[in-house]
Amino acid sequence: NHVPLSPISFLLRAARIYPGRVAVIHGRRRLTYAALAERSRRLAAALGGAGIAPGEVVAVLAPNIPEMLEAHYGVPMAGAILLTINIRLDAASIGFILRHSKARLLLVDSEYANIARVALAGMEAPPPAIDIRDPEGPGGEGLGGTSYEDFLAGGDPAAPVRLPADEWEAIALSYTSGTTGDPKGVVTHHRGAYLNACGNALAFGLSPRSVYLWTLPMFHCNGWTYTWAVTLQGGTHVCLRRVEPAAIFAAIAEHGVTHMCAAPVVLTMLIHAPEAVRRRPAQPVAIATGGAAPPSPVIARMEEMGFAVTHLYGLTECYGPATICLWQPGLDEMPLPQKAAFMARQGVNHPMLEEATVLDPDSMAPVPRDGATLGEIMLRGNTVMKGYLDNPAANAAAFAGGWFHTGDLGVLHPDGYIEVKDRAKDIVISGGENISTLEVEEVLYAHPAIMEAAVVAAPDAKWGEVPHAFVTPAPDRPAPTEAEVIAWCRERLAHFKAPKRVTFGPLPKTSTGKIQKFDLRQRLRGG
Ligand code: ATP
Repeated sequence: NHVPLSPISFLLRAARIYPGRVAVIHGRRRLTYAALAERSRRLAAALGGAGIAPGEVVAVLAPNIPEMLEAHYGVPMAGAILLTINIRLDAASIGFILRHSKARLLLVDSEYANIARVALAGMEAPPPAIDIRDPEGPGGEGLGGTSYEDFLAGGDPAAPVRLPADEWEAIALSYTSGTTGDPKGVVTHHRGAYLNACGNALAFGLSPRSVYLWTLPMFHCNGWTYTWAVTLQGGTHVCLRRVEPAAIFAAIAEHGVTHMCAAPVVLTMLIHAPEAVRRRPAQPVAIATGGAAPPSPVIARMEEMGFAVTHLYGLTECYGPATICLWQPGLDEMPLPQKAAFMARQGVNHPMLEEATVLDPDSMAPVPRDGATLGEIMLRGNTVMKGYLDNPAANAAAFAGGWFHTGDLGVLHPDGYIEVKDRAKDIVISGGENISTLEVEEVLYAHPAIMEAAVVAAPDAKWGEVPHAFVTPAPDRPAPTEAEVIAWCRERLAHFKAPKRVTFGPLPKTSTGKIQKFDLRQRLRGG
């Protein structure tokens, strides 16, 4: 009598309960739940017709458009594994991913046809491609293959939906950025996807009335959370092809957005948007932010602008958000700076999965609850990935001792909550002392003339490493001098934690809006 858990059931259920409700808005395009389900079922049937067998990989290279949602349902409905590819990758990396995953078919949005053409040309046995032509997109010829609409037309929407035989079956695959070697393919399973969506829908308060604005790319692991969690409740997805402040504020007003997720840099963009663009939302808007540490001054400014911010911590290997800062009694009464500081620190107070803790990675013993001893944040539960694709060495290291090793350093506080201190590879070790770059950045973000900041380790003959700040001044104020920034930090931090040097200018970002500290370190080493 056992029915395997699978997020496929969310769409079937939403189409049954809310057939006429708008499932997705994209520019002038609207799809109801009945239409989204029908198109997803057509896609599944067409994939079967094209010879895609259960367990095979179907890749998609597209921005946030309705077809991405269809792929999140249609591909698993065919029993296949959905591979979402980062649209900002170069052709060589796309080629590597297609080869490594043995992708059998590639769905390509026409805006990305050129890069796909180069990637496919470099392959010995390239998969066939299907051209997605989004009427809201910039147009273009595509790759000249079968069009997505023709492909869909060949699929019978009444064909039976295949639910996974086993809920631990793979559902999706996404590659990490590979800044330290070849990208690793993170494979997730139906059971984890189902439970992760349920956990997030509950923790983030999604309901059938929710209108969710996509500012994070669906190709990233967030695609593994909210594509499924919003649909689980029968909420509405709002897609944007370009994520910029004017479009975000306009979408919030026009579509009555109630929920969104955004990397801290998107919040910074919204805060510093020109006066003419900024609008206080007319309705309550919950923003979950994470993927990088949100500085408390940024949280506070967003709350002042009328948004309710919550803090998530997570990673691709856990389907996106692994933990969330839950509401606590007394939180609403706290003065704003204190409330924002609480939320910034407590991204890890409630695990979505069964267990999150901080262990000494050598002995695997818990660190003392003293708020000071660093250990590695480790996770365990149903919403941890199946593993890295065809990479036994990486799997052995990631799951050593029966826990998933996040590579993030944290401390345990006396009341049991975990505070993220830094990535193991980002922490600065100066004269034997650990310096959390997040702690220094928090102080930099509090400076009124600083818009963005990142601190990295600079090599130093005497101390081994010293903190070096990279700073983007706020657009609407006179830029501070290096001496002023250093003095600001020395007034608020132990002196050894204050940056020794400051470089001004724009900061390099990943496609999900994370500051690329790896790049900044290379710059300091003359790379
Ligand atoms: P890649 O693995 O592709 O090189 P990445 O490490 O950024 O890139 P993601 O899975 O996107 O991959 O990000 C997970 C990491 O992001 C976490 O391990 C952590 O270092 C960081 N992170 C996520 N959320 C937070 C947060 N709330 N506070 C601090 N750091 C965070």
